Amino acid sequence: MRGRCPRCGVGRPFDGFLDTSDGCGVCGLGFGGHDTGDGPAVFGILVIGAVVVGLALWLELALAPPTWVHLVLWTPLILLGSVAILRPLKGVTLALQYKFRSLEEPGRPGGPEREDLPLPRRRLLCGDQAASMSLKPVSLRIRPSA
Ligand SMILES: [Zn+2]
Repeated sequence: MRGRCPRCGVGRPFDGFLDTSDGCGVCGLGFGGHDTGDGPAVFGILVIGAVVVGLALWLELALAPPTWVHLVLWTPLILLGSVAILRPLKGVTLALQYKFRSLEEPGRPGGPEREDLPLPRRRLLCGDQAASMSLKPVSLRIRPSA
């Protein structure tokens, strides 16, 4: 929310307004593998939509103003609110990805393989990954039923 690194709380994860930097300048946490996608925009639409719809319904039921009043009030609120809330929501999404799907910590989803973990916690390796680690890729054969 404050635009700080989720690991150290000091560095900045953003290069510009919404561009994610390559890594934290303080602790070195890489942000390259984290992709928030459309998550912040979706959360922003839900939050701003709920607020604007609630306020518009209240205004309509309380004062019943003409339609142009709604346009003048809610259009700037939607535009400015969407832009204002996007960066904090992207920071939250980035922090949630770091907490639950870190790309650097071994043994976590998306992270490198960790050999000392019991088998159920290891990731399954796909063909290219297994080949790059000199492992025999697993292939599944489906026999047609007679
Ligand atoms: Zn950091």
